[in-house]
Amino acid sequence: MKQLTTLKDCIECKDCCYYHRHYLGLSTILEKNARFTKKEKEKLVDKGKFYQAKCERKKSLNYFFCDFKDGDLCQLKEKRPFGCKLYPFNVMKNREGKPVVGLDRDCLGIKNKTEKQIKDYVKYLKPLLKKTIKSKPYYVEEFQEELEVIDCLFP
Ligand code: SF4
Ligand code: SF4
Repeated sequence: MKQLTTLKDCIECKDCCYYHRHYLGLSTILEKNARFTKKEKEKLVDKGKFYQAKCERKKSLNYFFCDFKDGDLCQLKEKRPFGCKLYPFNVMKNREGKPVVGLDRDCLGIKNKTEKQIKDYVKYLKPLLKKTIKSKPYYVEEFQEELEVIDCLFP
């Protein structure tokens, strides 16, 4: 899957891979068909159709940090969750409950992209998301006010 943000953007920014206290979303969902090592599996909870990363709560902070974060990098590399590859985009319900493409405009890697680059990327993303949520409806997150609705998946 192509990504719009670059590794350089993320290394400069470092504002990812932790979650607010009450929210463990798509970036913690891992597919069962990936080959996880025994050590990696110890950090996962079996949720039936998928695994969920446990994410350790740091005392004194209201955040959960992903257990797979290794300095600036992700230990899981290509096995990382679909939500991590997709971010700062996501797939969520809009206020009417329809699946839409959301975008976190606070992402540093988006701030340095043009609107044309964003539009072209969404064009690439839409068929992929439509296909993905057909077989994995649990990928569609609840509406998040802080994200911008960029496009509808099924207008
Ligand atoms: S907020 Fe954006 S640029 Fe920053 S680490 Fe996350 S994906 Fe990368
Ligand atoms: S799986 Fe990797 S990319 Fe995803 S939140 Fe954890 S450390 Fe970050």
